[in-house]
Amino acid sequence: MTAPQTSQRILVTGGAGFLGSHLCERLVESGHDVICLDNFFTSQKTNVSHLLEESNFELIRHDVTVPIWLEVDQIYNLACPAAPGHYQYNPIKTIKTSLSGAINVLGMAKRCGAKVLQASTSEVYGDPTVHPQPESYTGNVNPIGPRACYDEGKRAAETLFADYHRVHRVNIRVVRIFNTYGPRMHPFDGRVVSNFIRQALQGNDITLFGDGSQTRSFCYRDDLVEGMIRMMAAPDEVTGPINLGNPEEFSMRQLAEEVREATGTSSQIIQRPLPADDPKKRQPDITLAQQHLNWRPEISLREGLQSTIRWFRSIDFEDFRPPTPNY
Ligand code: NAD
Ligand code: UDP
Repeated sequence: MTAPQTSQRILVTGGAGFLGSHLCERLVESGHDVICLDNFFTSQKTNVSHLLEESNFELIRHDVTVPIWLEVDQIYNLACPAAPGHYQYNPIKTIKTSLSGAINVLGMAKRCGAKVLQASTSEVYGDPTVHPQPESYTGNVNPIGPRACYDEGKRAAETLFADYHRVHRVNIRVVRIFNTYGPRMHPFDGRVVSNFIRQALQGNDITLFGDGSQTRSFCYRDDLVEGMIRMMAAPDEVTGPINLGNPEEFSMRQLAEEVREATGTSSQIIQRPLPADDPKKRQPDITLAQQHLNWRPEISLREGLQSTIRWFRSIDFEDFRPPTPNY
């Protein structure tokens, strides 16, 4: 790989995860010098082992809550468990990861004069009372519920990003990511798309929580990674937060039916209790992403599910260690 003239030294925290590993791949392909930092809590080395032979890729096992001294030009901060079952397993560690992680990457960005992008989330809107959700909506989050370790951690991380920008002029970017899926999702992460596909392929019951009327809007991982890269490349005044997600909204029952049809399974859909504080609906308003990044998703749920299902068919579930018992 010949390095482009604009080659950057880029740190990706959480770089071995589902989104991080694709981001690393894209950045390595573009000739950047990529450092992937991960503690492998919800991922495994095989996600990035194919990159290890590239001279512009480096892997560090490290916990983002602990400071580290690196010289970089850009930082993508993705380190954080993202699936409810896993982030609730050790909620105190989850909030520490968001807070100490943000402080550590912001400190590094300040010292190096680096640009730093925070992978925030639609969860900052909680169970929204405004629909679809624009960035100006300040949210409806239960600060002491089971999802708070994640939601409030990500909200406080946004606060830290905004304050480092105001106080120290750190060059920040904040994206609020809505539900994203695709190949290389951990088959035992317990999120809805991976659960339904694994259950369908194994001929097990498909577990629909509640009556399945709650909605989500699903973005395919390639669209999302493209949005993150465009955000990093945007003019410095585009600090965000900017929503990244696919505005096509589906109920969980519709998703279960789509997965049944796409896999051709005879699995039955069964109902399970709805978890506490489960948001009833979620749909991004992506006007800002269109205006500032000229970005909108291109891959439909049906297309994205097909390639995700193909990947799930290609793996052996036995090769994956469940990060926690909650899936
Ligand atoms: P993921 O669980 O696959 O990736 C997270 C990565 O962070 C994993 O590799 C994990 O091992 C690593 N990690 C966790 N704690 C760490 C720590 N303390 N130190 C170092 N590494 C640590 O999940 P993902 O879907 O790829 O999510 C990536 C980021 O995007 C997360 O910050 C998540 O909150 C955010 N996000 C994702 C979605 C989505 O739908 N995929 C939606 C909103 C936000
Ligand atoms: N869900 C479901 N069955 C499952 C896993 C999740 O019905 O096996 C539901 C869950 O209750 C939620 C939606 O699917 O309403 C999305 O859940 P996920 O954990 O993927 O993400 P989040 O709730 O964080 O958006």
